[in-house]
Amino acid sequence: MAKKERCFCGSGKASKNCHRVASDSRAAHLFKLFEQVEHTVEDYFMDKESKPQCFSGCNNCCSDFFAVSEVELEIILDEIHNTWTEQEIANLYKKVMNNVRAFQVEHPDVDNAIQTQLDYEGDLYKYSSFKGGKTRTSFPCPLLNKETGRCSVYNKRPMVCRTHGTTHLNLDEKLNSIESTVCEYIPSRIQNNAVTPDVTDMQTKYEEIVNVTTEQGSLYVRKLPLFYGIHALASMQGYNPTKSTVFNRHNLDMSMQESNAMQLKKAAAMK
Ligand code: SF4
Ligand code: SF4
Ligand SMILES: [Zn+2]
Repeated sequence: MAKKERCFCGSGKASKNCHRVASDSRAAHLFKLFEQVEHTVEDYFMDKESKPQCFSGCNNCCSDFFAVSEVELEIILDEIHNTWTEQEIANLYKKVMNNVRAFQVEHPDVDNAIQTQLDYEGDLYKYSSFKGGKTRTSFPCPLLNKETGRCSVYNKRPMVCRTHGTTHLNLDEKLNSIESTVCEYIPSRIQNNAVTPDVTDMQTKYEEIVNVTTEQGSLYVRKLPLFYGIHALASMQGYNPTKSTVFNRHNLDMSMQESNAMQLKKAAAMK
């Protein structure tokens, strides 16, 4: 990324002082989508008397093992390594290590699946989401500030944290007629669909962005629970908060087209 490049977001700031990603990168595309989601939710509730059922101040669904994509993890780690103190990063690393240990005791079947055969997000969702708060972890997301109850990476939080409870997907007719809970406080998905904006198109776009989707071929990029992903990346750098994260920054620094071509080439070479 050219260091003097202006940020893609139009703030007029140098990219390194703003979003810190290349203009046409996967991360830049994702940030633009996040903005669209934010506007959709804001616009939807602006003219309505109804408020989101997902009430302000609640953060119960931050104690779960939903999966996030590689680019989302890299955005979060870039934020942390650029804006947090060494002590704060060290504390976070300690937390994720404890989180993984606790998770292995609480959900051994899921842990086993993650470590072995699980290579498709759908498998993880079989275990976790839309079970109405029945799959909570005993610990909250390591990025939740327990004192304020707020997300410590709010502007950089993943797609699922932006949409769960405040939006819905237009699932097919059969699924739409099946009553199920969104979480322990929103007992009816059907009712939730009636009072939240539909973000199906944005979710489809999200999958296109976070995976490799081209006319030449496509690749599913593995997703991981957030604490698991940070643990994996922290282990790669020996849990050293002073070291910049060792992961490949192609999702942040390369154009999405270059990154896709590189990943397809790599996958073909491994066959
Ligand atoms: S989805 Fe449910 S658990 Fe999550 S914040 Fe909303 S009301 Fe709370
Ligand atoms: S990233 Fe933020 S919003 Fe998402 S689960 Fe963690 S603390 Fe909650
Ligand atoms: Zn910016």
